[in-house]
Amino acid sequence: MALSGLQIFKLLAKTNCKECGFPTCMAFAMQLAAGKAELDQCPYVSDEAKAALGEASAPPVRKVTVGAGDLAVTVGEETVMYRHEKRFENMPGLGVLITEDMDDAQVSSLLGTLKEQQFNYVGRTLRPRVAAIKAADAGRLAALAAKADAESGAALVLMHDDAAALKAAAEPLKDKKPLLYAATEANFDAVAAVAKELDVPFAIKADTLGALADLGQKALDMDFKEVVLDPSSATLGDVLQDQTLIRRAAIKKTFRALGFPTIGFPCLMTDDRLLEIVYASVFITKYAGIVILSDLDPARTLPLLYLGQNIYTDPQKPMQMDQGVYPINDPTADSPILVTTNFSLTYFTVSSEVEASKVPAWLVIMDVEGQSVLTAWAAGKFVADAIAPFLKKSGIEEKAPHKKIIIPGYVAQISGELEEELGDGWEVQVGVREAADIPKFLRQWSAN
Ligand code: SF4
Repeated sequence: MALSGLQIFKLLAKTNCKECGFPTCMAFAMQLAAGKAELDQCPYVSDEAKAALGEASAPPVRKVTVGAGDLAVTVGEETVMYRHEKRFENMPGLGVLITEDMDDAQVSSLLGTLKEQQFNYVGRTLRPRVAAIKAADAGRLAALAAKADAESGAALVLMHDDAAALKAAAEPLKDKKPLLYAATEANFDAVAAVAKELDVPFAIKADTLGALADLGQKALDMDFKEVVLDPSSATLGDVLQDQTLIRRAAIKKTFRALGFPTIGFPCLMTDDRLLEIVYASVFITKYAGIVILSDLDPARTLPLLYLGQNIYTDPQKPMQMDQGVYPINDPTADSPILVTTNFSLTYFTVSSEVEASKVPAWLVIMDVEGQSVLTAWAAGKFVADAIAPFLKKSGIEEKAPHKKIIIPGYVAQISGELEEELGDGWEVQVGVREAADIPKFLRQWSAN
């Protein structure tokens, strides 16, 4: 049972030391009760209080991990309805459905793609991670699960109505934490018993949110923590409504029976491949934890992974690179030096164009708290009297002593002042405004 703010307050140190980021222990207790603060923000919680606060301090949407190793998927642990309130924590796991009517070559091909497919996006690796195995024949389910594990290492969702079939498939792989799908009103006790025995997560599925909440409460009463919800949404409108109501109940009402991450199967909701992507987009945008597709065509997985990545980045932390000197294409002492900011998108756009130019170059990245060139200039962070001392300390002079630097075209206006600040024979050249023009610019620079 969740504790009230006052009950939590009674267990705190009550020193109002503010180290948790809140002005008083009472303020912290109220935020903790609302799921908007985390217990470890207070360094003075005793072990006894931690034990007592365990349930109250659990996030309103519990954390569930499916799989083990590199492709494990952690979902849930969410505390807000809207990303701008704080941030979304765990990006949905994307996966593919494997069924018993596929032949061995088809299955191996899908698993090979699952193992190999990955995309680099502003310094992060995005990839599908889940194989959902569906087979009416219990033996085939177990064989496909073993094959999926051996050939891909993916996080597994094992789909069957019969608890014995789920147990047979999951038992040899129990250390890989497969998700049992699904416990319903008809088989709840049997599936829950398998989940308990094997210590693996399981999904609950019902046709109405009321019935789903009843099963969720049953799971809580049996002390299960790793549960995934499937509200059986049938239409796009249902997806939007069900996912929103589940999240709202968990976050706004701290309704623990629905305080679990969800799973969605766009692959089973339509035969129209384009519509399937629309369904998947809505699942990703509206809170789903795991989303299963009918294939892993990169033209479909790439935009969905980008969508998830964009929604699940922390809006309070610009994505940024470490400050420093980055060599591209094996530069020498005579190679051009480009200077720009540490906004990740700026870095990756510029570095990929420099790389494409095949011209060896030094890219000097200045820490401006992850802002883009114009924003950092407007904020007074990417200006002459900040860039000059940074360049002198950056170590670029030892690597390329020619003292010619190229600044982004968008800050052409600082070139004179920067040259003055640098003094000592430095020459500031104005580069291009658009990254796409970098290759041509660099080739001309090298030819001169
Ligand atoms: S850090 Fe702990 S003791 Fe200090 S104000 Fe916050 S809740 Fe109270």
